[in-house]
Amino acid sequence: MELKYVSIRYDGDYDALAKRLLINEDCEEEFRDVFEACVKIANPKGVFGQCAVSQRDDLTFVDGRQFNSRVLSVNFRGLSRAFPYVITCGRELYDYARATDDPLYRYWIDSFSEAALRAVGVKVRQSVQETYGLGRINSVNPGSLADFPLPCQRPLFDILGDGPDSIGLELTPSFLMLPYKSGSGIYFESERHYENCALCPRLNCPGRRMPYSEEMVQAYGLQAPSEEGHACASAPRN
Ligand code: SF4
Repeated sequence: MELKYVSIRYDGDYDALAKRLLINEDCEEEFRDVFEACVKIANPKGVFGQCAVSQRDDLTFVDGRQFNSRVLSVNFRGLSRAFPYVITCGRELYDYARATDDPLYRYWIDSFSEAALRAVGVKVRQSVQETYGLGRINSVNPGSLADFPLPCQRPLFDILGDGPDSIGLELTPSFLMLPYKSGSGIYFESERHYENCALCPRLNCPGRRMPYSEEMVQAYGLQAPSEEGHACASAPRN
């Protein structure tokens, strides 16, 4: 698969972040120093590609890798291609956060990194649409739903070959991504708006982008999901 790389500068939005983190005059100077250090090194990145999709019975094959998932089975019905991707805030911010012992500084750097991840997520989504001439696209993300669990990261990373490694992204044995502020998924074409959140029962999730829908759960042929043990790896809003 031919891989496409995205790498951006990210200057951040000082006022928005300071407001969200409730920065007051007691800590403003320290926060500004950390913010400026982040801006200096930030280099969020992403990689994506296009690959073939086919289906047999309940199984979906993406670039020849087999997925047994109702969510993929329904969303990829009738499609012949899909667009796997990974995005990351970048190793530079991750290493900077790890190098500090101060939990407050680390929290600030992580918050900046999240915003950087969102920015590169927007850019990758646009690049996927422009590169392949697509209209509406939606994303499915390993780990967002029990039906498409975290171990599906492995085949997704395999499909992307050297791409994740080339942008400093690694997968741990427990299928988490390092840097932590990273995202992964598969874009697919669809006239309908799809969000993992509609099938996810997690209460009070600050990242929820669509109400939970019993109707959708039934339409996808899923078991009524349990909130317990859920670990969301949904891509950031983009
Ligand atoms: S963002 Fe929240 S509501 Fe949406 S899939 Fe993830 S955990 Fe569920």
